[in-house]
Amino acid sequence: MAVEIKCSVTECEYNQNVKCDAPMIQVERNHTSAASNSEETKCETFKPRG
Ligand code: SF4
Repeated sequence: MAVEIKCSVTECEYNQNVKCDAPMIQVERNHTSAASNSEETKCETFKPRG
């Protein structure tokens, strides 16, 4: 069963009704070698609309 991903980044091409509609996403560390909170992670799949 596919998980649902809520995402408020509505300017992303993959965003549909405040959810992610991509078949899969990749999340990476954000400029750190060891993340210690969510702000140190990022969605690498983000693509600007349009
Ligand atoms: S690809 Fe990432 S930023 Fe874009 S809608 Fe999905 S979770 Fe949000």
